[in-house]
This record gives sequence, structure tokens and C-alpha cells, in this order.
Amino acid sequence: MPIPNIIAIDGPAASGKSTLGKRIADSLGYLFFDTGVMYRAVTWGALQRGIAIGDEAVVTRLAESAQIDVRPPSKDDGRACDVLLDGADITWETRRPEVDANVSPVSAYRGVRQALASQQRRIGLRGRVVMVGRDIGTVVLPEADLKVYLDASAEERARRRYEEIRQRGEEADYEAILAGVRRRDEIDSTRAHSPLTAAADAVVLDSDQLNADEVFARVEAICR
Ligand code: C5P
Repeated sequence: MPIPNIIAIDGPAASGKSTLGKRIADSLGYLFFDTGVMYRAVTWGALQRGIAIGDEAVVTRLAESAQIDVRPPSKDDGRACDVLLDGADITWETRRPEVDANVSPVSAYRGVRQALASQQRRIGLRGRVVMVGRDIGTVVLPEADLKVYLDASAEERARRRYEEIRQRGEEADYEAILAGVRRRDEIDSTRAHSPLTAAADAVVLDSDQLNADEVFARVEAICR
């Protein structure tokens, strides 16, 4: 099999998709594109402008008009990429807890999804890309040459988020993180538009059973 040109990686929050996607992209010399940052950018933009998250029409207009750029990292401060909203660097703002708490309702809006998915599709169709998200293999790039669905239990995913935050030297509450992971899972997998689900032709991997190196080795072996 030739090396897949378009690789889609989907799965729930904190399943290790971004770590896997970045490593695969680096190993193949492909573009790594984490689509979650676009939903996060719109959410941060709405919060910053004082837009009510429940106001679908206004949030959708923002998603349609905002200039979101995702670029290779300009700083060596742990970021996987730069995220710009209307020219301003909001990379770390997109990781704030208030964005975590509000991003799932924002990404459940049909118009928001349409606006962002069409941009993602345009970038993905150029090829030599590893695109990571919730609906890449099912909706954004159903023609992807390789689809991976990376799963893990809510407890394991919450534990990883907890460790990540502690490593940054910040306070973290495991139970609150677990509740947040479960709430996002619930919204992401039951929403009407592009719910989180594995594509029928996806390779499903469970990262409760495999560590990050093992997951990477499996997917790399499939690619080469
Ligand atoms: O992957 P990440 O946790 O950064 O994604 C943040 C949120 O963006 C997810 O919880 C989900 O609601 C939404 N998302 C989505 N579709 C994608 C990527 C992310 O709905 N392709």
C-alpha cells in the first residue's frame, strides 16, 4: 500500500489524538492540522466579545466572519501550532478552562460547523496532511486514505488532562476534570450535526491498553 496521502484521526477529548497526529505528521513530513483549535478560537472570540454562547445566530456569524489562521509554531513554548484570530495570537487563550467549558455547545451549531468544516476540507484536500478532530473521517474528509479512531476511557483521559495541567505548574481538580470530560463526550456524541463517531472504515485503537509509543508504532506501521 502506498503511504496514505490524507490521514484522519478522530476520537474523544484527551484520547491522545493530537500527540499521535503530530508525531505521524513529523515522521512523514506532512502538515499537522488540529481542527479542535478552530472551534476553540471561535469560542474564545465569542467569550471575549461578550457574546452569549447560547445565541446561535450571533455565534454563527462570528464563525463565518472571523479570520482564523493555524500556522506552524513561532515559539518554542510547548505549543503545537500558532492560533491567530483576526491577526492576534490566541494560542494559549484557546486552552483556558472557560473555553473547555463552552466549546462543545459552540461546536454543536450547524452553521459554525459548516463554516469551519469547509475551510478544513479545502486544506485537507491539498494532501500530505494529518487532520485531527471529531468528524474528519466521517464528514470533513470521508475520502481520507487512512482513518484512525483513538478511544480511551473517560477516567484515563481525565487523568492525562490532570497530569498535563499539573506539569504546567497549575492547580487541578481531578473530579472536576472528569465531570468536564464526560459532559463534553455527551454533547459531542449526541449532537444532531456531525456527532463524534468512528467511521465504518476506521482503524479503532484503545489507548487505555496502549501507551503513546505503542499507538504511534501501530499507526506508523500501517502508514509505511
Ligand atoms: O480536540 P479538542 O478537545 O481541542 O476539541 C475541542 C472541542 O471542539 C471538542 O470538544 C468538540 O466539541 C469540538 N470539535 C468538533 N469537531 C472537530 C474538532 C473539535 O466538534 N473536528
